[in-house]
Amino acid sequence: MENSSSGKGKLDWRERFQGERDWNEVYRRISWWDTESVGKATVMVVGAGALGNEVLKNLALLNVGKILIVDFDHIEYSNLSRSVLFREDDVQLKQPKSFIAAQRIREMNPHVKVMSINGDILLDVGLGIFRRMDVIIGCLDNRVARLYLNRHCFKLSKTWIDGALENMHGQMAVYRRDVSCYECQLSDIENQFIRQRLSCPDVAMRNSNVGRIPTTPISASVIGALQAQEALKVIFKNEKQTMLGKRFEFEGMNNDFILYESAHLKEDCLSHSLIDEVIEAPDLTCKKTVSELLLWLEKRFPGQHPKVYLDYEVILSVVGKESQVEKELIIPQPHFSETRAKPYQTAPGEDLIITDSVRYLDGKFPAQDMTLKELGISELHILTIETDEGFEFVELTGDLPHLVFS
Ligand SMILES: [Zn+2]
Repeated sequence: MENSSSGKGKLDWRERFQGERDWNEVYRRISWWDTESVGKATVMVVGAGALGNEVLKNLALLNVGKILIVDFDHIEYSNLSRSVLFREDDVQLKQPKSFIAAQRIREMNPHVKVMSINGDILLDVGLGIFRRMDVIIGCLDNRVARLYLNRHCFKLSKTWIDGALENMHGQMAVYRRDVSCYECQLSDIENQFIRQRLSCPDVAMRNSNVGRIPTTPISASVIGALQAQEALKVIFKNEKQTMLGKRFEFEGMNNDFILYESAHLKEDCLSHSLIDEVIEAPDLTCKKTVSELLLWLEKRFPGQHPKVYLDYEVILSVVGKESQVEKELIIPQPHFSETRAKPYQTAPGEDLIITDSVRYLDGKFPAQDMTLKELGISELHILTIETDEGFEFVELTGDLPHLVFS
């Protein structure tokens, strides 16, 4: 006879709960609940720290159909006291937050489909991925990443829900193009801080806050719960009852709950660019070379001199500040980290000054055989193409098999 306490003969969950497998049974009793919409929804959660853990836990319990988790960091011991999904073993094994969070919410609810991207929101998440989301939830701890998230969502008119924590204080806001904008809310000092960080090529440095922000799992629970609830309303297309255009603040020490109107939209805000129509290109992927892409564009836009406008500069040469030795290279500026700069320094730590760079891919680009991926363009990205007749937006739709939820 098998001993069930030893784990032998342990039944698969499908067998154990046969006949009572309706996860939505309780939700069906709520009159306004829309089980079908929740089951079909695809939600992106950016940031899997304290706040991200709470949001993910709620989305999994609510049985949201597909969840994409994005985070570039690994789990540290300090995360454990505020993160319901992480364990000590994860710290020992230096596990990525996105991967482990995905694993744990699959364990919580085997009905949800999850995908994780262990990467940076600027470099590793193509706009075509944003395009396929019903709502995006920001669980970030720095303004630079929020700014990028805001710009990406605005380009595609996607609603995003921002959450922020500090000590017993928490904030939440819902943003969507034409209603309210994260970048429009920023003060001059915040803008200045972001500009300094944007110029920093190293992902971790660019995304780091100065010092660790102390907070509690309580603040994360409060704000994370509200973010998940607002996401549900967006999924239910119940926009009128969301906090769209408003900012909520919670001060736990004094029990202050305040709802503010968002600041007005500014005319000169850089977040307000729009991708109105996307051309899907099933035969293009980020593995194509520059010359293959240009050939495709010439066929699609004959006689219009198409060129690819990059979201950042590609560095072509640098000079050592002390040595004055100039060296050629081809590295996208966001990838030019301290490690990648080393071969171009004459002495360790020497400052390098960029002497040549390009913002376009065209017939003059010096490395026609480099792939788009090598140039920092991620899977399913939407390329901005400048032609003689204006701008066009071409998606690397051939990367669609990369988007796998399991
Ligand atoms: Zn704005």
